[in-house]
Amino acid sequence: MSIRLKIEELREIVPSDVKIVAVSKFHSNGEIMEAYDAGQRIFGESRVQELVQKQQDLPEDIEWHFIGNLQRNKVKQIAPFVSLIHSLDSERLMREIEKQGSVNNRIIPCLLQIHIADEETKSGFSPEECRLFLSEGKWRECSHMKITGIMGMATFTEDENKVRKEFDQLKSLFDEFKDTHFKNDPDFKEVSMGMTGDYKLAIEAGSTIIRIGTLIFGNR
Ligand SMILES: *Cc1c(COP(=O)(O)O)cnc(C)c1O
Repeated sequence: MSIRLKIEELREIVPSDVKIVAVSKFHSNGEIMEAYDAGQRIFGESRVQELVQKQQDLPEDIEWHFIGNLQRNKVKQIAPFVSLIHSLDSERLMREIEKQGSVNNRIIPCLLQIHIADEETKSGFSPEECRLFLSEGKWRECSHMKITGIMGMATFTEDENKVRKEFDQLKSLFDEFKDTHFKNDPDFKEVSMGMTGDYKLAIEAGSTIIRIGTLIFGNR
C-alpha cells in the first residue's frame, strides 16, 4: 500500500485532536515527500545529522520534531528550527536548550521524557527524578525553553495489559504534574505516547501525540 494510503487510513482511525508525527528516520527524502504530498506536515527524526540534512533539503513548512536521545553538544544544530524536542531528560540538557534558544532568539518547546518501560536501555527521567526536577523549579527560570508536556515509551511486548498499565501511569503523571506545577499554563497539554505497535492503546489512555514510523513508511 502506498504511503499516501497509509496516512489516509491512519487519519480515519485517529481522532482529529490527536497529532500524528510521521517518524521518518532512515527513510529517504522521496518517501517523506510522498507523505508531505498527502498533507502530512509533522515529521520526527532521532539523529541530529540526519535531521539537519533533511531540514535543509525539504519544504520549509515541515514541523520537525526531535524524538531521540539528544546529546548536549548537538543541540545548537537543531535549535534554529526544531518545533518540539520530545526527549528532555536532564537539567544539563535543559540548560543547553535554554542557551541555544536564546542564541536563536526563540522559545524551544520540550517534552519531559519519562521512563515507564521495563527495558533498561530506554532513556528518560524516572517518575521520581522528574518530580524532583519539577519541584526544584529551575525550569521556571528558562525563557527560551518551554515545557509543554511529557513523553514516554511502553515496554515492547505483546502483553496489552502491561502496555495499557504503563500508558495509564504516564497519563496519571501528566495529570499530577499539571495539577502541581502547570495549573495555569495552557501550553502544558501534550502527552506523547504510542507508536506503530501500540498507538491504539495509547489513544485510549489519553495520548495527544502519536509517533508513527513503520506503519506509514514500512520497515527501516
Ligand atoms: C523510531 C521511533 C518511533 C517510531 O516507531 P515505529 O514503531 O516505527 O512506529 C517512535 N518513537 C520513538 C522515540 C522512536 O525512536
